[in-house]
Amino acid sequence: MSSSHDLATIHTSTPRTTKWCVVEGILKQDSEMAWRRVRLKGGCPVVPNRFGRYIKFNLTPSYMQVPSEYQDNFICGACVRRNEHVQKTNNIETSIGTNLQNLYGQGACFLFVIKLLSCIIEDLKGI
Ligand SMILES: [Zn+2]
Repeated sequence: MSSSHDLATIHTSTPRTTKWCVVEGILKQDSEMAWRRVRLKGGCPVVPNRFGRYIKFNLTPSYMQVPSEYQDNFICGACVRRNEHVQKTNNIETSIGTNLQNLYGQGACFLFVIKLLSCIIEDLKGI
């Protein structure tokens, strides 16, 4: 009994703060730990991820006026996760694009790999 009560206490004791999310342009309640401040690194807007590493700020801000009593440049936990998701998608697209460019640039090598693979498949069929 007492352990479940303790868990409930831990869950509800996470401090929640109301801040202005610059992406959504609304006042939101989120846990203090989830809010992230958008910063500038080398002139590029970045957001610290869950591991404290700065990643590029990929979302479009709402461009709405922040209420005077609230701090500017904060994004909520949901937007932090969305930003990370966009970053991952961009990375995959970039790497596919680079790989395709490499393949087109090395057409002969690509054909060789295809030929090699078809040989291997033929070998496997023989077994
Ligand atoms: Zn948000």
